[in-house]
Amino acid sequence: MTNSKTYKCAFRHCSHESCEVLQDEAVKLGNRYFHEDCANTYKNINAIKVLYYEKVSNTVVMPQLTSVINNIIFKKHVDSGYLLFALQYAINIKRKINYPQGLHYIIDDFRIKNSWEKKQLQSIGKVKFEAKSNNETMFQVNKLKKKGLDNLFN
Ligand SMILES: [Zn+2]
Repeated sequence: MTNSKTYKCAFRHCSHESCEVLQDEAVKLGNRYFHEDCANTYKNINAIKVLYYEKVSNTVVMPQLTSVINNIIFKKHVDSGYLLFALQYAINIKRKINYPQGLHYIIDDFRIKNSWEKKQLQSIGKVKFEAKSNNETMFQVNKLKKKGLDNLFN
C-alpha cells in the first residue's frame, strides 16, 4: 500500500534483524538514513565524544575513546543515553577522568546510577504515576518487573 522507499540503516552497529529501514520510519541525519533508535545511539555517541574532547581532554586518542565507548554500549549493553548522562554528571561534579577507560568507573558510580534512575522515573512519572516519593515508585517498578519475569516461569 505504500510506495515508501527503503534504505539501508547507516549505523555501523545496527542490530535490527533487517538493516533496512522504511523511508517513513527512518531518521535522516545529513544525507544518511537510520532506524530511530540507531540514530539516537549514533547521536549520543557523537555527543559523548564531543563532550569528552571539549571538557575532559582535547588530546585524547580518539580511536581509544571510541573503542571504550563501543565496548560500554555494545558489549556491556549500557544505554548510550546513560553513558552521556554519566559523563556530563562526572564533569559537573568535577570528577577527574584521566583516560577513556575511566568511563567504565563512572558508569558504575552508585550516585550517578541513582541519579539516572530518578531522572528516568521522573519522566515515566509524569505520564503514569501519581506523585509519590521516587523511592516508592522505583520499588514498585522493580516489583512489577520481577513479577512479570516470575510469571514467565509459572
Ligand atoms: Zn539501524
